[in-house]
Amino acid sequence: MLQSSTIADVRAKITETRTIGADVTVLTLECPEIAAAAKPGNFVNIKVSDASQPLLRRPFCIHNVGNGTIDVMVKSVGKGTTLLCDAACGTSVMVLGPLGNSFGTGTGDFDTAMLVSGGIGTAPMLFLERKLAAQGIPFINLVGGRTRTDLLTRGLSNCSTSTDDGSEGFHGNVIELLKHHLETTAAGRRPKVFACGPNPMLKALAKFCANRSIPCELSLESVMGCGVGICYGCMVELNNADGVKESVLLCKEGPVIDGRRFTN
Ligand SMILES: Cc1cc2nc3c(=O)[nH]c(=O)nc-3n(C[C@H](O)[C@H](O)[C@H](O)COP(=O)(O)OP(=O)(O)OC[C@H]3O[C@@H](n4cnc5c(N)ncnc54)[C@H](O)[C@@H]3O)c2cc1C
Repeated sequence: MLQSSTIADVRAKITETRTIGADVTVLTLECPEIAAAAKPGNFVNIKVSDASQPLLRRPFCIHNVGNGTIDVMVKSVGKGTTLLCDAACGTSVMVLGPLGNSFGTGTGDFDTAMLVSGGIGTAPMLFLERKLAAQGIPFINLVGGRTRTDLLTRGLSNCSTSTDDGSEGFHGNVIELLKHHLETTAAGRRPKVFACGPNPMLKALAKFCANRSIPCELSLESVMGCGVGICYGCMVELNNADGVKESVLLCKEGPVIDGRRFTN
């Protein structure tokens, strides 16, 4: 989990937009400096409009990296995300990044990667699976949703899905799906879990992995302002090495954290 060393603040042209699900759009942004420095797990902080409102930038995981471009996958939940999802090709936005730390794919404590995501939490998994593939590490994407229209699997390889209502894939939640794969496709391997999704799902997953001594990294979310440790807006409570709660800035110490820090 390394910190990014090169951060750029650039005006990036939106070169492509694709609607991929209810309220979810993937935008391609031309920003070679950020694309060159980005690692899976990093995020960018985007000023979604040149107007004064929304004043603060909005954080988004780097979904994929192309030739001088990055993709972000955005779910429309409020004013800022709706403006971004509706942005026209050819317009531009200010993008600060890459920010935060990245997933630890070279930790040597695993030989198979379980990429567990829920809802828009799928956003960082495409970039992550590409890195794992380049390292020759086997992986599986376990993608969960409440119902089939929540499943965002576009572009991902080797996917297994779950829905709470049984409308597609495994009938149950994504942690039950993980348990199934640990006992079948990953049996006899040394797994590591990489996860992103709603915080309650991540908390349950952190406990599940801790109880089984499975290494686990989580990409957490919090409301975030500056993204670089100045505004103190993204303070979260995590366990320290002694299991005692401490306040940390998610933009600086995260967004990727060791799952053991999120077990209670
Ligand atoms: C490190 C990080 C990476 C993220 N990556 C992605 C991503 O790849 N794709 C994506 O669609 N979203 C991502 N998010 C969440 C995204 O930043 C928020 O949804 C966005 O800031 C909301 O802005 P808004 O102006 O549309 O919403 P607002 O109008 O400000 O608020 C609308 C609603 O969204 C809630 N909200 C606001 N900020 C957040 C937040 N950070 N997390 C969850 N709920 C929030 C508010 O409480 C409110 O209920 C990420 C957040 C973080 C911290």
